[in-house]
Amino acid sequence: MPGRLEHKVALITGAGSGIGLESSVLFAQEGAHVLLVDINLVGAEKGAALIAKRFPNVRALATKADVGKEDDVKAAVDLARKEFGRLDIMFNNAGIMHPADDNALNTDERIWDLTMTINLKGVWWGCKYAIMAMRENPTDDVKGLHTGGSIINTASFVALLGAATPQLAYTASKGAVLAMTRELAIVHAKEGIRVNSLCPGPLKTPLLMDFLDTPEKRERRMIHLPMGRFGEAVELAKAALFLASDDSSYMTGTDFIVDGGLSSAYVTAL
Ligand code: NAD
Repeated sequence: MPGRLEHKVALITGAGSGIGLESSVLFAQEGAHVLLVDINLVGAEKGAALIAKRFPNVRALATKADVGKEDDVKAAVDLARKEFGRLDIMFNNAGIMHPADDNALNTDERIWDLTMTINLKGVWWGCKYAIMAMRENPTDDVKGLHTGGSIINTASFVALLGAATPQLAYTASKGAVLAMTRELAIVHAKEGIRVNSLCPGPLKTPLLMDFLDTPEKRERRMIHLPMGRFGEAVELAKAALFLASDDSSYMTGTDFIVDGGLSSAYVTAL
């Protein structure tokens, strides 16, 4: 059985941990060649080594890039094209949630700007260079490859909901990712470039667990989770695979929510 991403090339940011790492492994398992991009090169290299060991039929490379720097993002996309000859899937997934991000009164402008640079400008640049690359994709009727591609931008459930435990810059940055994604989807729809957002609920990854460093903080969130548990990164990777693959060929501009029902909840069972 051919994989769902056979012969395709994927670039994944934030690939050294959490959703990005699980997605890299799953995409490779489904036949994609993967460029793992992270500011943490060690994490990305570990992911690439794991793929090389498990799936020798595909290629995986790791590179260091800060998505908050346009030149780094451009260089990563250029590397994918140089090494693999094309770019079919761009997963703009890297993001930060800064511990000093707070409410309107207490958030320092430096934290606001840093968060926007990584979470929002980083996604914009990822989309910009991916669109340029996807327009140039060579076609191959035998392998079923064509121009265009799938761009996935990681937002968050907090782009849809407010919270009384504020992280104003993070929430605003993710809301902007949703708005930007919808517009990109419409502008580029006729080129065969699909652009969707992924909205994860609270997950058991370092990003959130480092922040929820006491049982009280975790319990404060847990009471709102309909399934009574945090999500797993691999559950988001499976959703990203759907958006990346041709299985979602008629989906673009969507806010794809994978949150265990959280955003549908008023009160939840005790
Ligand atoms: P994670 O901390 O496990 O992974 C994030 C990765 O991004 C890390 O490897 C980190 O090194 C990398 N990164 C950070 N800044 C970077 C930069 N400037 N350039 C390149 N790489 C950078 O977190 P995760 O939970 O897998 O988060 C992935 C995405 O999901 C983020 O955009 C996050 O905002 C979003 N998200 C997470 C949750 C959650 O509960 N964990 C919920 C909603 C949305």
